[in-house]
Amino acid sequence: MSIYEVYMEVLSSQSSSKIITRKEIIELIHKKYKYIPSNSILPSDFCYNSLNKGIKVEKHKKLFWKEGYGKYSYKGPHFDNSNNNPDEFVKQNEIAQKDMKLLKELGIDDCTLFISREESCQDADNKKYYDAKIRFYARNEDIAKKAKERANGICQLCNKKAPFKYNVGNQKVPCLEAHHVIWLSKGGKDDLSNIVALCPNCHKKVHLLADQKDIEYLQNILNNRIIGD
Ligand SMILES: [Zn+2]
Ligand SMILES: [Zn+2]
Repeated sequence: MSIYEVYMEVLSSQSSSKIITRKEIIELIHKKYKYIPSNSILPSDFCYNSLNKGIKVEKHKKLFWKEGYGKYSYKGPHFDNSNNNPDEFVKQNEIAQKDMKLLKELGIDDCTLFISREESCQDADNKKYYDAKIRFYARNEDIAKKAKERANGICQLCNKKAPFKYNVGNQKVPCLEAHHVIWLSKGGKDDLSNIVALCPNCHKKVHLLADQKDIEYLQNILNNRIIGD
């Protein structure tokens, strides 16, 4: 009998909304299966919303929803988590909001959220880490590339030359970054009418300051272009 089957047998009568701690799970299992060592009872390895410290567990081998550090709810093998709305989670979760702000400051535009985060995870070297899930809006890399080529090595905000070039394949390209003037997550289009190429400094600036003047300036540049050129 696998540990997975043991969980199912012991926990199948639990309500899926009840929060149960790892300690309680161990106690329930030990009532019936005393020989199973406590340290091999790791519900976190069978969580829908956990990265499991790098341990890969087969996709279908999931039974729990992680409710917090050491806290779980038993969802069973047929749990459908598609209704879990991450946007709602962020709205209700202050830490997630801070994380989103930080990512946006780092210039990662089109990530929108964390589903889960734990304060107390530690890896083998005792480094703290966070379990997180982020939604990235898909963007068309070809169009991003075209936008950069269109800028011809010059930042479209400060009008200065890209600070350096780097190799992409065997081609040297100027270091410019594609930026959606209106973010995809806010309904912006993923086409050349909404993408500018910025130097890393300006890219960071538009994310940190979100200055309306910069946004209008960039929109003007795009409006005065023949779309698709
Ligand atoms: Zn610039
Ligand atoms: Zn950007």
